[in-house]
Amino acid sequence: MRTGVVRTGRACQKAEEMAKTIGVVLSERIAAGLIVDHRIVGALRLYPHESDNESGLVEMHTEGLIEAICEQVILTAGAKDAGCSELTAVGVALPGLIRNGVVEEAPNFPQLKGARIAELLSTQLHAHGLRVPVSVANDADSVAAGLAAAQGKLDSLIRVWTLGVGIGYGRYPFAPGVWEGGHTVVTLDDKEQFCGCGGRGHIEGIMGHRAMRLRFLDMEPEEVFEEARNRDSQGKNKERCLAFVKLWHKALAAGTATSIHMDGPGKFLLTGFNTRFIDLAMLKDYVNQMVKMSPLQGYTLEIVEDIPETRVIGTAVMAEQAVHAG
Ligand SMILES: [Zn+2]
Repeated sequence: MRTGVVRTGRACQKAEEMAKTIGVVLSERIAAGLIVDHRIVGALRLYPHESDNESGLVEMHTEGLIEAICEQVILTAGAKDAGCSELTAVGVALPGLIRNGVVEEAPNFPQLKGARIAELLSTQLHAHGLRVPVSVANDADSVAAGLAAAQGKLDSLIRVWTLGVGIGYGRYPFAPGVWEGGHTVVTLDDKEQFCGCGGRGHIEGIMGHRAMRLRFLDMEPEEVFEEARNRDSQGKNKERCLAFVKLWHKALAAGTATSIHMDGPGKFLLTGFNTRFIDLAMLKDYVNQMVKMSPLQGYTLEIVEDIPETRVIGTAVMAEQAVHAG
Protein backbone atom coordinates (compact mmCIF):
# COMPACT_ATOMS: atom_id res chain seq x y z
CA MET A 1 0.00 0.00 0.00
CA ARG A 2 2.77 2.49 0.72
CA THR A 3 6.22 1.66 -0.74
CA GLY A 4 4.91 -0.15 -3.78
CA VAL A 5 5.11 2.90 -6.02
CA VAL A 6 8.46 3.40 -7.70
CA ARG A 7 8.81 6.71 -9.47
CA THR A 8 11.68 7.71 -11.67
CA GLY A 9 12.65 10.83 -13.53
CA ARG A 10 13.71 14.39 -12.78
CA ALA A 11 11.15 15.23 -10.13
CA CYS A 12 12.39 12.32 -8.13
CA GLN A 13 16.06 13.25 -8.45
CA LYS A 14 15.39 16.80 -7.32
CA ALA A 15 13.47 15.62 -4.29
CA GLU A 16 16.33 13.31 -3.44
CA GLU A 17 18.71 16.22 -2.93
CA MET A 18 16.66 17.59 -0.05
CA ALA A 19 16.30 16.00 3.34
CA LYS A 20 12.92 14.39 3.80
CA THR A 21 11.75 13.83 7.31
CA ILE A 22 8.49 12.95 8.95
CA GLY A 23 7.43 14.85 12.04
CA VAL A 24 4.86 13.37 14.39
CA VAL A 25 3.34 15.13 17.38
CA LEU A 26 1.46 13.23 20.03
CA SER A 27 -1.13 15.19 22.03
CA GLU A 28 -4.91 14.63 22.15
CA ARG A 29 -4.39 13.43 18.59
CA ILE A 30 -1.51 12.23 16.46
CA ALA A 31 -0.47 14.86 13.89
CA ALA A 32 1.96 13.77 11.20
CA GLY A 33 3.47 15.56 8.24
CA LEU A 34 6.11 15.03 5.57
CA ILE A 35 8.68 17.80 5.79
CA VAL A 36 10.98 18.75 2.93
CA ASP A 37 13.33 21.70 3.39
CA HIS A 38 11.56 22.73 6.61
CA ARG A 39 8.17 22.94 4.89
CA ILE A 40 5.17 20.66 5.05
CA VAL A 41 4.41 18.83 1.81
CA GLY A 42 0.67 18.28 1.51
CA ALA A 43 -1.72 18.42 4.41
CA LEU A 44 -1.17 17.36 8.01
CA ARG A 45 -2.45 13.88 8.74
CA LEU A 46 -4.55 13.73 11.91
CA TYR A 47 -5.58 10.66 13.88
CA PRO A 48 -8.15 10.07 15.31
CA HIS A 49 -10.19 12.21 12.93
CA GLU A 50 -12.25 15.16 14.15
CA SER A 51 -15.40 13.10 14.57
CA ASP A 52 -13.74 10.26 16.49
CA ASN A 53 -13.42 9.92 20.22
CA GLU A 54 -10.36 11.98 21.24
CA SER A 55 -9.80 10.28 24.57
CA GLY A 56 -8.96 7.13 22.62
CA LEU A 57 -5.20 7.76 22.56
CA VAL A 58 -4.85 8.20 26.31
CA GLU A 59 -6.63 4.91 26.92
CA MET A 60 -4.46 2.93 24.50
CA HIS A 61 -1.77 0.56 25.72
CA THR A 62 1.82 1.36 24.78
CA GLU A 63 1.86 -1.22 21.95
CA GLY A 64 -1.36 0.17 20.50
CA LEU A 65 -0.03 3.70 20.65
CA ILE A 66 3.27 2.70 19.01
CA GLU A 67 1.36 0.91 16.26
CA ALA A 68 -0.93 3.92 15.74
CA ILE A 69 2.08 6.25 15.40
CA CYS A 70 3.80 3.84 12.98
CA GLU A 71 0.66 3.62 10.88
CA GLN A 72 0.56 7.41 10.53
CA VAL A 73 4.27 7.51 9.63
CA ILE A 74 3.78 4.85 6.96
CA LEU A 75 0.69 6.52 5.52
CA THR A 76 2.50 9.88 5.46
CA ALA A 77 5.55 8.36 3.78
CA GLY A 78 3.38 6.49 1.29
CA ALA A 79 1.18 9.40 0.40
CA LYS A 80 3.82 11.71 -0.97
CA ASP A 81 7.17 10.07 -0.98
CA ALA A 82 6.96 6.44 -1.92
CA GLY A 83 9.83 5.11 -3.92
CA CYS A 84 11.68 8.38 -4.47
CA SER A 85 14.30 7.89 -1.82
CA GLU A 86 14.58 6.85 1.76
CA LEU A 87 13.52 9.15 4.51
CA THR A 88 16.32 10.90 6.39
CA ALA A 89 14.63 10.60 9.76
CA VAL A 90 11.41 10.33 11.71
CA GLY A 91 10.90 12.60 14.71
CA VAL A 92 8.23 12.17 17.37
CA ALA A 93 7.37 14.78 20.00
CA LEU A 94 5.27 14.25 23.08
CA PRO A 95 4.59 16.04 26.35
CA GLY A 96 6.96 14.69 28.96
CA LEU A 97 10.52 14.29 30.10
CA ILE A 98 12.36 12.47 27.34
CA ARG A 99 15.99 11.45 27.57
CA ASN A 100 17.96 9.31 25.12
CA GLY A 101 14.82 8.02 23.45
CA VAL A 102 13.25 6.98 26.76
CA VAL A 103 10.08 8.51 28.23
CA GLU A 104 11.12 9.15 31.83
CA GLU A 105 7.92 10.98 32.80
CA ALA A 106 4.70 11.72 30.91
CA PRO A 107 1.78 12.79 33.10
CA ASN A 108 -0.60 12.95 30.10
CA PHE A 109 0.41 9.50 28.81
CA PRO A 110 1.13 7.51 31.99
CA GLN A 111 1.28 4.27 30.02
CA LEU A 112 4.44 5.50 28.28
CA LYS A 113 6.43 6.09 31.47
CA GLY A 114 9.68 4.13 31.18
CA ALA A 115 9.06 3.16 27.54
CA ARG A 116 12.12 3.04 25.28
CA ILE A 117 9.98 4.72 22.70
CA ALA A 118 12.59 5.49 20.02
CA GLU A 119 13.66 1.84 19.98
CA LEU A 120 10.07 0.54 19.98
CA LEU A 121 9.11 2.80 17.07
CA SER A 122 12.21 2.00 15.08
CA THR A 123 11.68 -1.76 15.52
CA GLN A 124 8.03 -1.49 14.56
CA LEU A 125 8.76 0.64 11.49
CA HIS A 126 11.45 -1.81 10.47
CA ALA A 127 8.89 -4.62 10.74
CA HIS A 128 6.80 -2.65 8.25
CA GLY A 129 9.78 -2.37 5.90
CA LEU A 130 10.83 1.18 6.81
CA ARG A 131 14.43 1.46 7.99
CA VAL A 132 14.86 4.97 9.33
CA PRO A 133 16.46 6.65 12.35
CA VAL A 134 13.84 7.67 14.91
CA SER A 135 14.34 10.41 17.48
CA VAL A 136 11.97 11.45 20.24
CA ALA A 137 11.73 14.92 21.75
CA ASN A 138 9.78 16.94 24.26
CA ASP A 139 6.90 18.76 22.56
CA ALA A 140 7.85 22.21 23.89
CA ASP A 141 11.36 21.77 22.43
CA SER A 142 9.73 20.91 19.10
CA VAL A 143 7.66 24.12 19.30
CA ALA A 144 10.90 26.07 19.87
CA ALA A 145 12.57 24.37 16.88
CA GLY A 146 9.48 24.94 14.71
CA LEU A 147 9.30 28.63 15.58
CA ALA A 148 13.05 28.98 14.98
CA ALA A 149 12.57 27.43 11.51
CA ALA A 150 9.50 29.60 10.79
CA GLN A 151 11.39 32.76 11.71
CA GLY A 152 14.53 31.67 9.84
CA LYS A 153 16.49 31.69 13.11
CA LEU A 154 17.94 28.20 13.13
CA ASP A 155 21.29 29.64 14.22
CA SER A 156 20.17 31.47 17.36
CA LEU A 157 18.91 30.65 20.85
CA ILE A 158 15.12 30.66 21.20
CA ARG A 159 13.18 29.80 24.31
CA VAL A 160 9.44 29.14 24.36
CA TRP A 161 6.83 29.04 27.09
CA THR A 162 3.77 27.02 26.08
CA LEU A 163 0.78 28.06 28.18
CA GLY A 164 -1.84 25.32 28.14
CA VAL A 165 -3.22 22.68 30.48
CA GLY A 166 0.32 22.50 31.80
CA ILE A 167 3.25 24.87 31.27
CA GLY A 168 5.92 23.76 28.82
CA TYR A 169 9.37 25.18 28.42
CA GLY A 170 11.16 24.62 25.14
CA ARG A 171 14.64 25.50 24.09
CA TYR A 172 16.25 25.61 20.66
CA PRO A 173 18.91 24.56 19.84
CA PHE A 174 18.47 21.31 21.68
CA ALA A 175 20.98 20.91 24.49
CA PRO A 176 21.41 17.88 26.72
CA GLY A 177 19.72 18.42 30.05
CA VAL A 178 16.34 18.21 31.72
CA TRP A 179 14.93 21.70 31.05
CA GLU A 180 11.70 21.22 32.98
CA GLY A 181 11.27 24.99 33.12
CA GLY A 182 7.52 24.77 33.73
CA HIS A 183 8.38 23.36 37.15
CA THR A 184 10.70 26.21 38.10
CA VAL A 185 10.05 27.18 41.72
CA VAL A 186 8.72 30.73 41.75
CA THR A 187 7.21 30.98 45.26
CA LEU A 188 8.07 29.72 48.75
CA ASP A 189 4.41 29.84 49.85
CA ASP A 190 3.50 26.47 51.40
CA LYS A 191 -0.05 26.73 50.05
CA GLU A 192 1.13 26.74 46.42
CA GLN A 193 0.70 23.10 45.55
CA PHE A 194 -1.52 22.89 42.48
CA CYS A 195 1.14 21.67 40.07
CA GLY A 196 0.32 18.54 38.08
CA CYS A 197 3.64 16.97 39.18
CA GLY A 198 2.75 17.35 42.88
CA GLY A 199 5.67 19.68 43.57
CA ARG A 200 5.28 22.85 45.63
CA GLY A 201 5.71 26.42 44.37
CA HIS A 202 5.98 25.66 40.63
CA ILE A 203 5.10 27.95 37.71
CA GLU A 204 2.67 25.36 36.38
CA GLY A 205 0.93 25.26 39.79
CA ILE A 206 0.05 28.95 39.27
CA MET A 207 -0.27 29.32 35.49
CA GLY A 208 -1.39 25.91 34.21
CA HIS A 209 -5.06 25.73 33.14
CA ARG A 210 -5.64 22.64 35.26
CA ALA A 211 -4.03 24.30 38.30
CA MET A 212 -6.17 27.45 37.88
CA ARG A 213 -9.33 25.35 37.89
CA LEU A 214 -8.19 23.65 41.10
CA ARG A 215 -7.46 27.01 42.75
CA PHE A 216 -10.75 28.66 41.75
CA LEU A 217 -13.23 25.88 42.22
CA ASP A 218 -16.11 28.36 41.79
CA MET A 219 -14.83 30.21 38.70
CA GLU A 220 -13.39 29.24 35.34
CA PRO A 221 -9.99 30.79 34.48
CA GLU A 222 -11.68 32.92 31.78
CA GLU A 223 -14.03 34.38 34.40
CA VAL A 224 -11.16 35.16 36.77
CA PHE A 225 -9.31 37.21 34.14
CA GLU A 226 -12.60 38.81 33.02
CA GLU A 227 -13.43 39.86 36.57
CA ALA A 228 -9.93 41.30 37.11
CA ARG A 229 -10.35 43.41 33.94
CA ASN A 230 -13.87 44.58 34.74
CA ARG A 231 -13.68 48.28 35.67
CA ASP A 232 -17.22 48.33 37.05
CA SER A 233 -16.84 45.60 39.65
CA GLN A 234 -15.37 45.80 43.13
CA GLY A 235 -15.32 43.91 46.39
CA LYS A 236 -13.58 40.82 47.73
CA ASN A 237 -13.97 38.70 44.62
CA LYS A 238 -12.58 41.43 42.40
CA GLU A 239 -9.57 41.83 44.74
CA ARG A 240 -9.00 38.09 44.75
CA CYS A 241 -9.04 37.92 40.94
CA LEU A 242 -6.82 40.96 40.52
CA ALA A 243 -4.28 39.56 42.99
CA PHE A 244 -4.25 36.29 41.10
CA VAL A 245 -3.75 37.94 37.69
CA LYS A 246 -0.71 39.74 39.13
CA LEU A 247 0.61 36.50 40.65
CA TRP A 248 0.09 34.73 37.28
CA HIS A 249 2.18 37.33 35.46
CA LYS A 250 4.81 37.40 38.22
CA ALA A 251 5.18 33.61 37.96
CA LEU A 252 5.92 33.82 34.23
CA ALA A 253 8.24 36.77 34.80
CA ALA A 254 10.09 34.85 37.55
CA GLY A 255 10.53 31.78 35.36
CA THR A 256 11.80 33.95 32.51
CA ALA A 257 14.15 35.85 34.84
CA THR A 258 15.56 32.56 36.16
CA SER A 259 16.11 31.31 32.62
CA ILE A 260 17.90 34.60 31.78
CA HIS A 261 20.10 34.31 34.87
CA MET A 262 21.02 30.69 34.08
CA ASP A 263 21.14 30.62 30.28
CA GLY A 264 21.57 34.26 29.24
CA PRO A 265 19.33 36.84 27.59
CA GLY A 266 17.71 36.34 24.16
CA LYS A 267 14.37 35.75 22.56
CA PHE A 268 11.43 34.35 24.54
CA LEU A 269 8.32 33.35 22.60
CA LEU A 270 4.99 32.79 24.31
CA THR A 271 2.49 30.43 22.77
CA GLY A 272 -0.44 28.14 23.63
CA PHE A 273 -4.15 28.77 24.14
CA ASN A 274 -3.70 30.70 27.40
CA THR A 275 -1.54 33.43 25.88
CA ARG A 276 -4.96 35.14 25.56
CA PHE A 277 -4.58 36.04 29.27
CA ILE A 278 -1.22 37.79 28.87
CA ASP A 279 -0.87 41.51 29.50
CA LEU A 280 2.49 41.97 27.79
CA ALA A 281 3.16 45.38 29.40
CA MET A 282 2.59 43.95 32.89
CA LEU A 283 4.77 40.94 32.13
CA LYS A 284 7.63 43.04 30.78
CA ASP A 285 7.44 45.35 33.79
CA TYR A 286 7.81 42.39 36.19
CA VAL A 287 10.72 40.86 34.22
CA ASN A 288 12.35 44.28 34.21
CA GLN A 289 12.10 44.42 38.00
CA MET A 290 13.61 40.95 38.31
CA VAL A 291 16.54 41.26 35.88
CA LYS A 292 18.83 44.15 36.73
CA MET A 293 22.34 43.12 35.56
CA SER A 294 23.02 45.18 32.44
CA PRO A 295 24.69 42.39 30.35
CA LEU A 296 21.51 40.33 30.80
CA GLN A 297 19.03 42.91 29.58
CA GLY A 298 19.07 42.05 25.88
CA TYR A 299 15.95 39.91 26.04
CA THR A 300 12.66 40.11 24.15
CA LEU A 301 9.21 38.71 24.87
CA GLU A 302 6.77 38.04 22.06
CA ILE A 303 3.41 36.24 21.73
CA VAL A 304 3.18 33.91 18.73
CA GLU A 305 0.30 31.88 17.35
CA ASP A 306 0.17 28.20 18.26
CA ILE A 307 -0.42 26.12 15.12
CA PRO A 308 0.01 22.34 14.90
CA GLU A 309 2.17 22.71 11.76
CA THR A 310 4.85 24.52 13.79
CA ARG A 311 5.20 21.59 16.17
CA VAL A 312 5.33 19.04 13.35
CA ILE A 313 7.99 21.02 11.44
CA GLY A 314 10.00 21.52 14.65
CA THR A 315 9.90 17.81 15.40
CA ALA A 316 11.21 17.05 11.91
CA VAL A 317 13.95 19.71 12.22
CA MET A 318 15.11 18.17 15.51
CA ALA A 319 15.09 14.67 14.03
CA GLU A 320 17.14 15.81 11.04
CA GLN A 321 19.65 17.55 13.32
CA ALA A 322 19.89 14.44 15.51
CA VAL A 323 20.87 12.40 12.45
CA HIS A 324 23.59 14.89 11.50
CA ALA A 325 24.86 15.02 15.09
CA GLY A 326 24.77 11.26 15.57
ZN1 LIG B 1 5.56 20.81 38.93
